[in-house]
Amino acid sequence: MATLRSAADSHPNRTHTCGQLTSANIGESVVLKGWVDTRRDLGGVIFIDLRDRHGFTQVVFSPQDDAAAYELAGSLRNEYVISVEGTVAGRDAETINPKIPTGEVEVKVSSLQLLNTSEALPFQVSVRDEKGTLANEDLRLKYRYLDLRRDELQSNLVLRHKVYQATRNYFDQHDFVEIETPVLMKSTPEGARDYLVPSRVHPGKFYALPQSPQTYKQILMVAGMDRYFQIVKCFRDEDLRADRQPEFTQIDVEMTFAREELVYELIEGLIVAIWRKTKGVELPTPFPRMTYREAMERYGADKPDTRFGMEIQDISDVASGSGFRLFDSTVADGGRILAIVVPGEGDRGRGAMDRLDKDVVRKRIGAGGLIYFRLPSDGTGVQSSVKEDVLPGATVAAIVDTLGATSGDLVLMLCGNAPKVYEQMGTLRLHMAAETGQVPQGADGPWNFLWVTEFPLLEWDEEAGRFFAMHHPFTSPRPEDLEAFGDDPGKIRARAYDLVLNGTELGGGSIRIHSREIQSKMFELLGIPEDEAKRRFGFLLDAFRYGAPPHGGIALGLDRITMLLTGAPSLRDVIAFPKTQRAQEMMVQSPDEVDEAQLKELHISIVEEEDK
Ligand code: ASP
Repeated sequence: MATLRSAADSHPNRTHTCGQLTSANIGESVVLKGWVDTRRDLGGVIFIDLRDRHGFTQVVFSPQDDAAAYELAGSLRNEYVISVEGTVAGRDAETINPKIPTGEVEVKVSSLQLLNTSEALPFQVSVRDEKGTLANEDLRLKYRYLDLRRDELQSNLVLRHKVYQATRNYFDQHDFVEIETPVLMKSTPEGARDYLVPSRVHPGKFYALPQSPQTYKQILMVAGMDRYFQIVKCFRDEDLRADRQPEFTQIDVEMTFAREELVYELIEGLIVAIWRKTKGVELPTPFPRMTYREAMERYGADKPDTRFGMEIQDISDVASGSGFRLFDSTVADGGRILAIVVPGEGDRGRGAMDRLDKDVVRKRIGAGGLIYFRLPSDGTGVQSSVKEDVLPGATVAAIVDTLGATSGDLVLMLCGNAPKVYEQMGTLRLHMAAETGQVPQGADGPWNFLWVTEFPLLEWDEEAGRFFAMHHPFTSPRPEDLEAFGDDPGKIRARAYDLVLNGTELGGGSIRIHSREIQSKMFELLGIPEDEAKRRFGFLLDAFRYGAPPHGGIALGLDRITMLLTGAPSLRDVIAFPKTQRAQEMMVQSPDEVDEAQLKELHISIVEEEDK
């Protein structure tokens, strides 16, 4: 141990990183430090791939160069930390590795110091099995410091760093001010459950961690700060079904006197700057736009993936009136018959179609059932899933004609009420695109950005029997829809927009309400009683009395942006210390119990859950 410590203290300063040396350095004396990634002992010569965040360099030990170093190298194991001094040499032609930047050189070691040893690892860091799978994720999360040695994760975090830098530079250049808002906040309605923090000083009272700094950033506009941004942690206590994180990072933005056009222009500029900095890609602007209504009708989703076609077509008119009960009654009851054409799938077998109907359409999507036409590639005519005496050939032909389907195509149809049937068809479209390999993988684009605009202001919740704000209660209605406030609030469109990339929502925002009257009216519509509105948002309503300027903004998900930029399969791969689907952090093991004394100070007692 003593020798280890003295060695660790006396090692020379490093001259280069492990990713730096090239043939231009041949002949130089250098000092490198890093981890032993792999060791090959060829008897008489030992090769080590030395690794740090910057890359790998091959270092070579032989008794001719230094006997002591050669001997010590024989006892090195993976993940030992070492310091080597030596001379850069060119590799023999046949050992050049063109895959890494340092692949033309190696370092002939004249002195080796062991800085630390490593126990055998609980899993092999970069090793994947034959299916390309890494070690069990819970294990990797428990030993996150080891998993983070993996070059994919390291380069993800470096790219994430570049996103921060590009964002800060961009906003600085555009006269925005970065302002921090409180983390100990008060419960605000962003739609999810709050994380609460008990107050020691105020027994029985709680702070809430921000779901977003929404009200604070609006207040900053009232305060005259003009243009605000913040790279900010937000917290939402949701059931983590999909790939979500309970704490996540937003690029939060608010602007005084902003209308939609200004938000689009400035955010497009930000995205262009981020893509330029991280990928060297020049994105074309302006980004296309689509209203919410069009997105739902053409793609069955408010975040359409426009990288592939198979758009939804409403065939209610051609398909009904033939005497086929399902089609006729759907239309008679005010429903719609929707179709998509899947190219190249017209030869699917019956079995495969039955499985699609049962497992995907009925079970996963929850639709009543699938009607389909197969158009075999040999041109032998249309095979309908409905017998000809039930659905006449003339109607089948008319549908095929309307859709423009040809040999080799598969026509899929669903019936039901809008908007549900559109959503179901949207899900089926995504499923078919994925199954037929139409969804590009990786991180090289295409980058299909899209603004989705004119969202509805309100969303009816059947269970609760009331309206909820589709974006949040501070979103302004479109002035031309305001008359509808009284009789048909569901029809009011909001001045809200989302930015979508390749079928993923990158973020959303809105032009806000800045009038006290309209804000009160909005709370009323949402069934929030006046006294409650006052208690929760009195500060905002008060602020609106004192010269509140028109304003608007947006928040973008930084984790998601980074995930798409890196092509990582999960948000967990772009966050240094992520939480699991069960909202746990496996390394430090949070959440955790606390001392009785701590609880007492916080005036909290734990009630054991009764046996169910
Ligand atoms: N606060 C909103 C959110 O987090 C974004 C915004 O309206 O600016 O979704």
